Amino acid sequence: MRKPIMAGNWKMYKNPAETTAFFEKFRPLVEKAEHCEVVICPPYTDIAAAVAAAQGTRIGIGAQDLYWVKEGAFTGEVSGPMIKACGCSHVLVGHSERRQYFEETNATVLQRTIAAMDAGLTPIVCVGEKLADRESGETEAVLSLQFRGGIALLSPEQFARIVIAYEPVWAIGTGKTATPEIAADAHRAIRGQVRGHYGAAAGDAVRILYGGSVKPDNVRVLMAQPEIDGVLVGGASLDANSFASIVNF
Ligand code: PEP
Repeated sequence: MRKPIMAGNWKMYKNPAETTAFFEKFRPLVEKAEHCEVVICPPYTDIAAAVAAAQGTRIGIGAQDLYWVKEGAFTGEVSGPMIKACGCSHVLVGHSERRQYFEETNATVLQRTIAAMDAGLTPIVCVGEKLADRESGETEAVLSLQFRGGIALLSPEQFARIVIAYEPVWAIGTGKTATPEIAADAHRAIRGQVRGHYGAAAGDAVRILYGGSVKPDNVRVLMAQPEIDGVLVGGASLDANSFASIVNF
């Protein structure tokens, strides 16, 4: 039985005061949500406020990225142990916006994934194809490349600790959600790669989240797919009512 994870990615939105205000509204709305894990990934500058506001709840806090070196002369970077020490439980790795704007590659995704686990964080490793890949029938090939280059180099023990998020790039922030069938097909393809590489038990156990324009009005049909083990939500996680509706789908 895979417990769903309903995760929010706030991207570069909100300041600490707005974070506290969000949690004041959000906490009571999700206090009965025992059917899933809830994780919110605010910007680094809001992590302390989020951790304080989530205290005494089951809401986990995650960062949106990390650097793979523990400490050193790397101006502007933040490491896994630093994120962990702030009270985070999770961290996003390889989000398509990092791949698109900040030169993230499958190889650096792998380094960050390992660094996250070394720091005691659960990495949510993002994969997904671009529109051109899908239109040229390359979706499975791209997912396979991302899997082989960024995930399959983990040991079985390491792999057992990660969460995968399938986020078709063409559906992120565009209002275009993958149909439940398209999402489920991609999830099946990823799970198939996991089975082939790590065995059936690992394939059955790994949680694969869907991300891409998830909203309160489409979350139910997505979550009705047995292949979909939760969602990673950008825009709709910024509003307490909207994200609570998604959590309580
Ligand atoms: C995301 O940022 O991971 C995401 C899926 O964004 P949105 O829900 O806004 O498409």
